[in-house]
Amino acid sequence: MESFRYIRAQDNQAAIRAAGINEAKFIAGGTNMLDLMKLNIETPKQLVDINKLSLYKIEELQNGGIRIGALVKNSDLAYHPFIVKNYPVLSEALLSGASPQLRNMASVGGNLMQRTRCPYFYSTDFACNKRLPGSGCGAIDGYNRNNAVLGTSDKCIATHPSDMCVAMAALGAIIHIQSPKGIRTIPFSEFHLIPGQTPHIEHAIKPDELITHVELPALSFASKSHYLKVRDRASYEFALASAAVALDIQGGIIKGARIALGGIGTKPWRSPEAEKALIGAPANNETYKKAADAALAEAKPYTDNAFKIELAKRTLVRALTTVGGMS
Ligand code: SF4
Repeated sequence: MESFRYIRAQDNQAAIRAAGINEAKFIAGGTNMLDLMKLNIETPKQLVDINKLSLYKIEELQNGGIRIGALVKNSDLAYHPFIVKNYPVLSEALLSGASPQLRNMASVGGNLMQRTRCPYFYSTDFACNKRLPGSGCGAIDGYNRNNAVLGTSDKCIATHPSDMCVAMAALGAIIHIQSPKGIRTIPFSEFHLIPGQTPHIEHAIKPDELITHVELPALSFASKSHYLKVRDRASYEFALASAAVALDIQGGIIKGARIALGGIGTKPWRSPEAEKALIGAPANNETYKKAADAALAEAKPYTDNAFKIELAKRTLVRALTTVGGMS
């Protein structure tokens, strides 16, 4: 690990000021950042500890939504009664991620910013455009079983690792940001970037911008939701494929649908195509299969990961069946 300056910020303004200089990075739970620093993949000259900031609240909003502080621990959010009751997809996604110890440390803001687990990214012995722009991609012609099939480019095929983000993508979360210029919001769908020609640029956020909150807008059918994760082992493992699903079914017809997929995309993958296939159709197995086909229609397999396309379809169908039943 390279040497760095450590600053413990006492409020948002101080944190933002400190982040604007000296190639700084924020740190909260440290569950991803410290790993990356030990491997010299992240080498900030200045680390800004934000754990003293007042961003730990989970507040119900008058419009029926909820506002989640960026420093709320993943475990606290997962077990919050309002989330369990009204947004079960988010609670289930959080509890499917990492281990209890990590969930007790990891923050919501850190989860939003966590980086890929592509093994070539973590080893400085291999080429990786995300770690070192222009160096090549070890995964495209290498071992790519866990890599993405949606949103890839000729520069990077890394999957986004988060479960929480898949649920937030489906729920249409809004990210609140504070910077020297003031306060702004970013729709969840615009926060994570697909790799394109610049895979090292992963988020629509600048170094001196601080995530302060995530807002979940009210969604009348969010309580009818589910997160299903398929992985190589039952816990402490990233998704091979996952599905976040919320359905509004009235009289056997799907009136509203929110669909996002994980483990297969270069970002948390909301699927408007699947939602379109579902809305207005009867809630049955045939509809669910059509939605799954639509969600994966643009998927591009690589040498070792073609199986993910069928796996993701089946994962989505099973999640839809769990929420909507079968007729
Ligand atoms: Fe790096 Fe992306 Fe290629 Fe993995 S897939 S080696 S993260 S450029």
